[in-house]
Amino acid sequence: MRYIGCHLSASAGNLAMVRTAEKIGANTFAFFTRNPRGSKAKKEDPVDAAAAVAALGEKGFGHLVAHGAYTMNLCTADPDARAFACDVLCDDLRRMAALPGQYYNFHPGSHVGQGVEAGIDHIARALKKALEPGYPVTVLLETMAGKGSEIGGRFEELKAIIDAVGSDSVGVCLDTCHIYDGGYDIVSDLDGVLAEFDRVVGLDRLKALHLNDSKNAFASHKDRHECIGQGSLGLETFRAIINHPLLADKPMILETPNELPGYQAEIALLRSLEG
Ligand code: FE
Ligand code: FE
Ligand code: ZN
Repeated sequence: MRYIGCHLSASAGNLAMVRTAEKIGANTFAFFTRNPRGSKAKKEDPVDAAAAVAALGEKGFGHLVAHGAYTMNLCTADPDARAFACDVLCDDLRRMAALPGQYYNFHPGSHVGQGVEAGIDHIARALKKALEPGYPVTVLLETMAGKGSEIGGRFEELKAIIDAVGSDSVGVCLDTCHIYDGGYDIVSDLDGVLAEFDRVVGLDRLKALHLNDSKNAFASHKDRHECIGQGSLGLETFRAIINHPLLADKPMILETPNELPGYQAEIALLRSLEG
């Protein structure tokens, strides 16, 4: 059985998310650590977190994949804004320690004209600082579509960040919509793309996937998610992903345009493709 889930609202707390996940047939999930378009975080609740940890173990959930705020740009040009983003990252990793052993995924950032190398340098510095306390969390860099000055549209950029940080606690979350929009053809050559990832980054760094179809054509660098089977990736691509032996143990998170009933149906659809 694969670990499949979706984004859930964190507003009712961690245990509530585990219960909701169970109800919709999920055995992993994602949630925003704070307002995705702002920076405000929820009040911490250690009792709720401990109850969630117990429930996750009891139900045999796969790794959760928390998501950092979209507004957290670790390589923005303004030094004060960059320092603020780094503070947000540090606080997120500290908070993740309440759910030990889970994943924390974020968008590497946009270099906004400073150049890829400067951007990678800023991101690596922030990660080094945030990982310093040694919290029990693995940080995942998300593969991006390469929109505007986004970093992470090429596997080489993720590898450069990983090398510059030099920690075993950094991995990658592969977003299917993003890499297809970014020019990695998982529709006609999934094996080839995974081989390329292995060559450049190493498959041991691949920890999780975001499963999204795409509203746009191959290599469009657009990043618009579509429901599974209704976009340019198509259902057969997801059948191949779900059943790929190299991806068997990875949490797979839906970020498709859905509310809970839609997610429940998509999880069932994906499970029907297994085997
Ligand atoms: Fe994302
Ligand atoms: Fe994603
Ligand atoms: Zn996206």
